[in-house]
Amino acid sequence: MKTEFSLAQLADPDIAEADKILRACVHCGFCTATCPTYVLLGDELDSPRGRIYLIKEMLEKNRPPTAEVVKHIDRCLSCLACMTTCPSGVNYMHLVDQARARIERDYVRPPTERLLRAVLAWVLPRPGVFRLGMIVARFGRPLAALLPTPKTAPATPGLLRRIKAMLALAPAHLPPPGPSGGSVFAAKGERRGRVALLQGCAQQVLAPRINQAAINLLTRHGIEVVLVKDEQCCGALTHHLGRDDEALARARANIAVWLGEAEQKGLDAILVTASGCGTMIKDYGYMLREDRDFAAAAAKISALARDITEYVATLSLQPAQQRSDLVIAYHSACSLQHGQKITHVPKELLSKNGFVVKDVPESHLCCGSAGTYNILQPDIANKLRDRKVANIAMVKPDMIAAGNIGCMVQIAGGTSVPVVHTIELLDWATGGPKPGLKGPGLN
Ligand code: SF4
Ligand code: SF4
Repeated sequence: MKTEFSLAQLADPDIAEADKILRACVHCGFCTATCPTYVLLGDELDSPRGRIYLIKEMLEKNRPPTAEVVKHIDRCLSCLACMTTCPSGVNYMHLVDQARARIERDYVRPPTERLLRAVLAWVLPRPGVFRLGMIVARFGRPLAALLPTPKTAPATPGLLRRIKAMLALAPAHLPPPGPSGGSVFAAKGERRGRVALLQGCAQQVLAPRINQAAINLLTRHGIEVVLVKDEQCCGALTHHLGRDDEALARARANIAVWLGEAEQKGLDAILVTASGCGTMIKDYGYMLREDRDFAAAAAKISALARDITEYVATLSLQPAQQRSDLVIAYHSACSLQHGQKITHVPKELLSKNGFVVKDVPESHLCCGSAGTYNILQPDIANKLRDRKVANIAMVKPDMIAAGNIGCMVQIAGGTSVPVVHTIELLDWATGGPKPGLKGPGLN
């Protein structure tokens, strides 16, 4: 794609990067076929190619974002299916990240929308506040049914519609909190390695059992696990809201504490059980490339980051205690399959450990979770969830496995089949407790 940035514009490293990305696009449109919003809405401006043109116009002309541009960028899930499909290697992720940051900086949203986004950006990364929010939401759940639902979905959902979506996502009850930062779990038997395990923000409130399963499995296989003190949310939630200053502040804080731990006591890896967070941490090196004080440290931390399944695949797992022969529908989270290009490893681990693993039809399509997307764009998100759940039902599973808490909550909202994390099944197969037997949902 031909671009027309001036030399002065290209002196800005972000614009230089956008120019490189835009020039790689050959407008072939292959990406439209796998873009969930194009598949649902059929509008070129809701396709990757259409959005690339909108972003090009905005950046080249140095124009403030228009309401039309904001509408189509907001509808993008950042699922990155387009990056997997693109034959030219267009880095859509870094381009749309720039667009979101520019929208946040230069576009004045309606007051209710600003308020909602500010509340989400403040509450979600703080587990203590999020827990309180979930308790309040639990009592508000019965009210959700009383809130009006418009007969036709407006282009941008209103505040009530979004509050309804938020209440619907709140779990019926919350499990007690898991172990706190600073905890160290000793390896059983001879120590073969030492890792940090990301505590996460929403996940540690909604499903602490996921990290518990990871700790059980790792320590049982000779790996010491540390929950690093003063670690924060990885920043992905605020980054996807375009609030880059907040996201980068969290990234720097995490880099400092993880590097301190690595230098003092040694770390073989930083393990992540929520793939949305993993994609973000693996990108810290890129995001802080222009930061003189943090660039080298950020690159080191990104190189240490691993999805839990990537790391577990390097261990010789103890043979399965029993063959379960349960049929598992494997839901490939977008952040894992498109963001981190991890596709076969989780399925192979499950098969090797006694499960009958089934691929879900249209597995490249997002389930509609996408960080705060299911709150901000509930109509599109619900359609994608229903499509995902229908596709999952086609393989008649006993359980659904996924590697990202957002997907787990989203899918659990549309099915009665238990939804579990891949690591819970692997823990069970290697001697841990059987997960997900209390019925639907996450508790
Ligand atoms: S597939 Fe890649 S090169 Fe083709 S239009 Fe989409 S982004 Fe551009
Ligand atoms: S990230 Fe997903 S929703 Fe956004 S343009 Fe790419 S394929 Fe479409």
